[in-house]
Amino acid sequence: MNTIFSKRTKIVVTLGPATETPEAVKELILAGANVFRLNTSHGTMDYHREKIRMIKEVSAKMGVYVATLVDLQGPKIRIGNLKEEIEIKNGDKLVFEHAAEQKGEIIPVDYKGLADDVSKGSRILIDDGKLEVLVDEVEENRVYATVTNGGILKSRKGLNIPGSTASLDAVTPKDVDFIKFAVEEKADLIALSFVRKNEDVLLCKKYINDFDASIPVVSKLEKPDAIENLVEIISVSDAVMVARGDLGIELSPVDVPICQKLIIDEANKQRKPVIVATQMLESMINEPIPTRAESSDVANAILDGTDAVMLSGETSVGKFAIDAVKMMSKIAISTENSAFYKFDTDYELNDDIALTRQAVVFGVDKMLKYVNAKAILSFSHFGYSTRLMSKLKPSAPVIMVSDMEETCRKMALAWGVYPFCKKWDAIVDQDLLLKIDEFLINEVGLKQNDYVIITGSAPRLISGRTNFVRVHKIGT
Ligand code: PGA
Ligand code: MN
Repeated sequence: MNTIFSKRTKIVVTLGPATETPEAVKELILAGANVFRLNTSHGTMDYHREKIRMIKEVSAKMGVYVATLVDLQGPKIRIGNLKEEIEIKNGDKLVFEHAAEQKGEIIPVDYKGLADDVSKGSRILIDDGKLEVLVDEVEENRVYATVTNGGILKSRKGLNIPGSTASLDAVTPKDVDFIKFAVEEKADLIALSFVRKNEDVLLCKKYINDFDASIPVVSKLEKPDAIENLVEIISVSDAVMVARGDLGIELSPVDVPICQKLIIDEANKQRKPVIVATQMLESMINEPIPTRAESSDVANAILDGTDAVMLSGETSVGKFAIDAVKMMSKIAISTENSAFYKFDTDYELNDDIALTRQAVVFGVDKMLKYVNAKAILSFSHFGYSTRLMSKLKPSAPVIMVSDMEETCRKMALAWGVYPFCKKWDAIVDQDLLLKIDEFLINEVGLKQNDYVIITGSAPRLISGRTNFVRVHKIGT
């Protein structure tokens, strides 16, 4: 079978200065990239507009389906503008206040709820957790704190208040602008940062809906509250991300591995795609090969049952961006082909999902035990059944044929699914079966007499709800 069908785990790459040319995007796709993440925490809207259009153009020329993901910054708190960098040492006393600019010695923070959300003993982390202060007391709008982890304090660096940040808007005015942008540019996915509860996701969806669109939302789980409200958040999300960067700051690096497993298990149970993100091959930002701990981390996330893995700095600013994607693909393939890669996907019926659909996909998965099928061929209009099939991690690759390009791009996060677009929505007859065989041989790389399990809808092959399974032998 064609080698493009060898990698099942999907790869999300973050675009940035290291990879912003059409040539680089092409290379990233050839190396195994399935989703391109535009991180709106950096860069102007015009920059992202140019990039999203370029990605669409390059992938269309290549005839492959990749998705674009607009990652909303969300309620990220930042230090305001300092007059100059400040060196802070352990034991130093600092005062923080909600302001845009530094006044005297007082450090500005761009969050109005700062003084309400902390109290004596609260930890405040700055610059990805590199600096830490402990709150001594809160007086009116001012927060007095002692430095417990010193370093250089710089303007606009991120600030984390682990735990409750009740007065933060889940979707900021900047996020709303980028939601509008995502709708205008027909992005395939929107990610929401710092989700704390299911209402945050619903609010984001409401904004998307207000712009007359229905772009799926990936909830980034990176707050302690998100872990507490995991089940409800996943149930209203279209996909989730284990955002280990901020999760490791908000909780502790100690808690990240177990949170990762909890999130993956719950997402799998609810049949929602899950992405494991951040520092997966971090050292490849500067080195051509990863540390053994990093290659193990990618493999273990895959063994945990994730659908996708993500690269951030490795591809946005790294010196070995293409190599990082190639390395990730190789680790994925090697892990997927190992004897350790097996899952119990004998899930209970899910009341939220149409019964016919569930019966068909469970049936196909079971059939693979009896028929040595080279592929599952899933005909689908919107891709619901195909995505459901993907969540069972079937042992054969899932070739999806849809009559809509948008559906093909939406498969970018669906584990083990390879999309094709064909306008084949007709009544199944001998001619159509011949066309299907030709496709399987010429485009998928299968041979005469190979078995394929076909699912689709009858009487019309694509436009109805999935309702049939056919055990098909090519050429017969
Ligand atoms: P970020 O999200 O890179 O947008 O911060 C991922 C993470 O926090 O791990
Ligand atoms: Mn984050």
